Order: sequence, then C-alpha cells, then structure tokens
Amino acid sequence: MSATSDSLLPLLKQSFGYDAFRPLQREIMVASLAGRDVVAILPTGAGKSLCFQLPALAREGVTLVVSPLIALMKDQVDALTASGVAATFLNSSIQGSEAQRRRSGLENGHYKLLYAAPERVMMQGFVEDLQRWNVTAIAVDEVHCISEWGHDFRPEYRQLAQLRAKLPGVPFLALTATATEQVRGDIIRQLELPEPEVFLASFNRPNLSYSIVPKSKSTRQVYEFIRERPNDAGIVYVQSRKSAESLAAALLAEGVKAVAYHAGLQPEERAANQEAFIRDEARVVCATIAFGMGINKPDVRFVIHADLPKNIEGYYQETGRAGRDGLPADCVLLYSRGDLVRNLKFLDEMTDAKAAEIAARQMRLMADFAEGSECRRVSLLDYFGEQWPGDNCGGCDICLQPREQWDATTQAQKLLSCVFRIKQKSNFSTGLNHVVEVLAGANTEKIRKWYHDQLSTYGIGKDTPREEWTALGRQLIRLGYIDTSPDNFQTLTLSKQGLAALMNRTPIVLTRSPVVASTSTAKVSRAGSIACDEGLFAELRALRKRLADEKAVPPYVIFGDTSLRHMCRAYPQTDRAFLDIPGVGSQKLADYGQLFMAEIKAWLAGHERQIFAAEAPLPPAPKMKSESGANSTALETLRLYRQGLSPEKIAAQRNLVVSTIHNHLAQAIANGALQADPRDYFSAEDDNSCAKPPPSTAWKAWGSSKKPSTTASTTPRCITSGRLRSAGLITYARQTLCSLNIMFAMMQRGG
Ligand SMILES: [Zn+2]
Repeated sequence: MSATSDSLLPLLKQSFGYDAFRPLQREIMVASLAGRDVVAILPTGAGKSLCFQLPALAREGVTLVVSPLIALMKDQVDALTASGVAATFLNSSIQGSEAQRRRSGLENGHYKLLYAAPERVMMQGFVEDLQRWNVTAIAVDEVHCISEWGHDFRPEYRQLAQLRAKLPGVPFLALTATATEQVRGDIIRQLELPEPEVFLASFNRPNLSYSIVPKSKSTRQVYEFIRERPNDAGIVYVQSRKSAESLAAALLAEGVKAVAYHAGLQPEERAANQEAFIRDEARVVCATIAFGMGINKPDVRFVIHADLPKNIEGYYQETGRAGRDGLPADCVLLYSRGDLVRNLKFLDEMTDAKAAEIAARQMRLMADFAEGSECRRVSLLDYFGEQWPGDNCGGCDICLQPREQWDATTQAQKLLSCVFRIKQKSNFSTGLNHVVEVLAGANTEKIRKWYHDQLSTYGIGKDTPREEWTALGRQLIRLGYIDTSPDNFQTLTLSKQGLAALMNRTPIVLTRSPVVASTSTAKVSRAGSIACDEGLFAELRALRKRLADEKAVPPYVIFGDTSLRHMCRAYPQTDRAFLDIPGVGSQKLADYGQLFMAEIKAWLAGHERQIFAAEAPLPPAPKMKSESGANSTALETLRLYRQGLSPEKIAAQRNLVVSTIHNHLAQAIANGALQADPRDYFSAEDDNSCAKPPPSTAWKAWGSSKKPSTTASTTPRCITSGRLRSAGLITYARQTLCSLNIMFAMMQRGG
C-alpha cells in the first residue's frame, strides 16, 4: 500500500472524521511511513495518538503501541473501535478465552494496532510472537518514562532498546507530551535511535487560560469557582491524601458531585472514582499528583492547583489535562508563600543531598513563576525554550488585568539599605521576615537580642503595610538585587547589582501586586471557543451520555464536545452534512448519524435556528528559540501562500476559517515577512464595499456571537461576510495608517 500523505488524508476523514491535519501530524506520519525513526514531542491536545494510529492503517502488518498504563490502553482501544479501527490490547486483565481470541486475531492479521505495556513486551516469548504477527512499526507512547530526569520514570522502558535487535528494520516512533532538552536527549540515547527525525511542536496551549490567585481559605475559593461553572468538569490538585479527601467531602456537602483520588485508596475505590469522573458521573476529582497519567478525558474544563506544585514541569503537565478538545479551559493556581516554605521543609527528610538541592531549586522556580509579574504564558513557554511573539497573550491573569508599574526607587532603597545594615552590624544575614520587622519598627525578641532597634533603618517603613514590604522584597530578590542563601533559611545578602543600586541610587521600577482576590475570570472571547446553540448542546450531551452508558464507554468515545458544538452550529440534517462535522467518520455516521440528526430535527421543530459568526482566530503561535520553530501556524500559512495557494484554498486545506488566514497574512505583512498589497488577496469590489470604516457599534458586534440586530442597518457590508471582515480591516488600516497589529487586536477582541 502506498504510504504518501495523499493517501493519508482520505483515511483521516474516513476513519477519524477530520479534513485536515494539525501542525506537524502529517510530517511525523510521512517520516514514519518512510521508515525513519521519529521522536515527536507534541503538547497534550495536539493529536499525538493520531501520529501512529493513522499510519498504522496505511501500512501493512500491525503497529505495536507500547503504553504505560492499562487504563490508557483500554480507553484508546475503545475509542479506536468506535471509529471502526481494528485495534486490541493484551495485558494481565485479559485472560483465558478472551486472550486466546485476541491472539488468534493477531495470528491471522485481523488487527492494525496492538497495545501492550513494556513489561508485557519484554516477557519471555512475546518478541517471537511479535515477529510472527508481522509487526511493521513500534510506537512508544509516554516515552518520557524512559528518563530518570523526567517524572514518572519507569525502568522497564529502558529495556525496549532490545527490541531493535530482535525486530531489525522496524521503525520506532517515540512520543511524549513533555520533555525538556535533557529528557529528549535521554530518550534518543536510551532507545538507541541512531538518527531519528525529531519533531518538536510548540508547547503553547492557546485555549488554556492561566491565573494565579492569592490563596486564602482555599476550600471556599475552590467551591466558589466550581459553583460558577455548574456544567463543567474539572480536577483539583492538592498536596496530600488527607486534603484530597477533606476537599471532596466539603464539595459533596455543598452539593457538588466530587470524588477523591490518591495513591492511598484501595485499588478498587481508586478505579471506581476515576471511572466516575471519566463517565461524567462525578464532576470534580480532588486528587494528588497520583491522578492524571493516562486520563484521556478531553473535556476537562478546569484544573485548579489548591496547593503549590513542586515544579513547573509538573504544573505544565497537570494543567495540560484541561481542554484537550481544544475548547477553552481554565487553569487556576491558589498561591501562598507558606506552601513553598512547607514544601522546602519536606526536603529535610531527603537523604540524597544532591536530589534535595535539585528539588529545592525547582520549587523556587515554581514560586518565582507564581510571584512573577510577567505574562504566565511567556514564563511557561520560556521554561521550555520558546519565545512568545506578542506582548499580550490575552489568556492569563497578568495580560487580562495588567498590573501597574511604579517608581519604587525610594522604597527599594530603604529595603536594600536595611539588608545591608543588618549584615554590617551583626556580621550575619537574616531572612526577609526579619528585615520587614526591622523596617516596620517591630519589638521582637530577635530585634532586641541583636540590637537591631539601633539600626538607622529601624522603623523607617512604619507607614507601609508589612505585606507590601514582603512583596517588594520578593520582587527585588527575583530581579537579582538581593541573593538568598540556598539553605531553607533563605537569608538575604545584597548582590553586586543590589549594592550598586544602593550606592548609585539607581531608579528601580517595580510592578504592583494585584489586588484581586477573586477566582472568577473575566468573560472575554476565549481562544478556541466555539459559539453554538447551548440549548441544543445540552440535549446532545444528554443523548451522548445515554448512548455511552448503553455501550459502557466514556461519553467522549461517542463524540467529543468539539463535534457536538459543531453540530449545534451547523444543525446537520443529511448524511453529507453530518460527515462534514469534525470528528465524524464513516463508522460514526453509520452508528450515530440517525440518532443525532433526529435529535437535532426535533429540536428545530420547537426552536429557532441560530446563526453564528465565523470562529474567532487563535492568537499567533509562539516562535521557538530553536530552529525547529518553523512550524508555527502563521508560518505554515505563509509557506502555502508562497506556493501560490489562495487564502480560501489554504483555509480549506488547514481546516481554518478564511479570516484566520487573512489574519496570518496580515501579520506577515505587518512584520515585513510578506511584501504584498492587501488588494492581492481581495477584489476591488470587496475593497469598495469596505471603503468606509465601520461605525464603532459595528466593531463591537464582531466580537459577539450574536447577529447585530439594532445596528444591522448601519452595518457595512464588509462585516456581514466573514471573508470580508479582515479585508475591511486592512482597508481601514491603510486609510488611517493604523498598524495592522492594532487592527487585528481590535478584531480579535471585538472592540
Ligand atoms: Zn499572558
């Protein structure tokens, strides 16, 4: 069978119901089908599994998928089976005649995909079975488990390299959603991949919003957040087993269907609680970090960290479990400095000094992230070596509520000077708390004992609340004016930079701490959101749940929320229209088309059909620091445009709306990557109809999903057509010499 990308696209539609690949998917598949070893690092929600599932259908023989968890295998095989793909798994839960049935299916070449855990793969005699079963590719999922530098280290992953000698010429495809450079190197070394093609996607998750909220009465904060979202499912991560249970109990008492999950539960209870969450029977799971790997639930709408995570990688991975379906989701971290202190204390029990030091460093980085005043997305991506191109991500607390900058020179001088004087007088350093006490003129035992009330800086900060001094001190530490000792006492000394600033009275500009203490996020148009008929959506969800229960599978195996939302925009009434819905392939059409179309028809009999504007374009993808950055979505558009494809063609090929393509091209013009007159991609007639700038009321209407009613008569033609929206903006920009960036920012925000 030929294995080109041409043959992949029809297979993609037929089996999985999609018209286009997501970034890097096609490139990964083509390389793998060409027999290359491939390492693919794709963030959660980027369609990682498809990278081995689809090529498995295109090639002869069976693809072995090494997967770490039994639950993960079962979910994936259930989902594949629902799409009509011949897949199976072998593990200890499959015994007797069922195991025999599966093995004979493999002997007879009935399956395209076989899932197994690494322990099983390395069992006596299994490799010989694999040789007989015509294994033609090996996909190693969650491959970061191979590295002790990552979390979730699984020593048995290391033995997989032995397969290379036993199955020579069979290409490896190693996949993970998380890997720092160190882990990436380890993967290649441990699997003994001589010259793999490495694909590294952006770690940005545009549909996730990040916010960090000062923690106070966390149970109440969590409950209030959840109460505002009565239909949403989510995960609340806490530090201890005890907190997981007490939080779940508190939420239950408030009427929220919540379950606990941690490693101390009996296996049956743990499995039952996880199952309840996946099947939409429990809305919230209160969990320790034991929960998550292998959880395929795509419609997790929020992840709350009620306690401070121990490192940024873990935080990224845990928040990454939200919004795998690409729809908007919230990630909220409740932060208190006390959590850091508590985490650091635990390290005292560690016997391995080196490991304790690494852990302490990671904990401080995590606290710096939480205390930082920089865009959360910028900070997170920076951790993974990526640069965010814009200055406002529009999806984090910092960008949505920009903080005030202020001239902190005088205050900073007082604090720096106090640190300096303490050291000078006592010849030892103290922690920040003590410095703040001295500034505030407190009468503590330590101040009396060390005669710090005799310092010239004693009491010079009386008029400022202590929390402000603490926040100021933290910022000065973060900005490098003050060094802290690496031990848990974190005593302060002035850095070179701090000493110079003190001596020269260098101006210091700082950011004010936020005053907001609420967890509620502003209602703004969110990246990834799909406006739809919410009433019908509720009906279709209920139908989906009934069907899922009948088949004993999780609801998302029937259809994901994205597919349902598209149904609730397009109201499909024919097989053809139903097949156009993303996520609908021929098997799903055959199994569920009639049922869902009947439900839609019944709905339309009693409700008016709603009309929706084109989907909001996603913000620009970040640039990578490494050269593999040439995969951002705007660059892909530019590449295709340079090949001579029209914006419409590009939109169709990439499964994006045309206005998004216009947006990409306009960005390219704005930053000089493309020399083109906007007239090149829209006609003179279009131009004329948009010659007048739209009235200000019309600008607002663009951002809302509702059809403008009162302004309809004054709305110029350009905004009634999705295609002409961006064209009109470009014209307007040209006339007013406004920067295209500003215009598109206006378009994205709708005002
Ligand atoms: Zn931001």
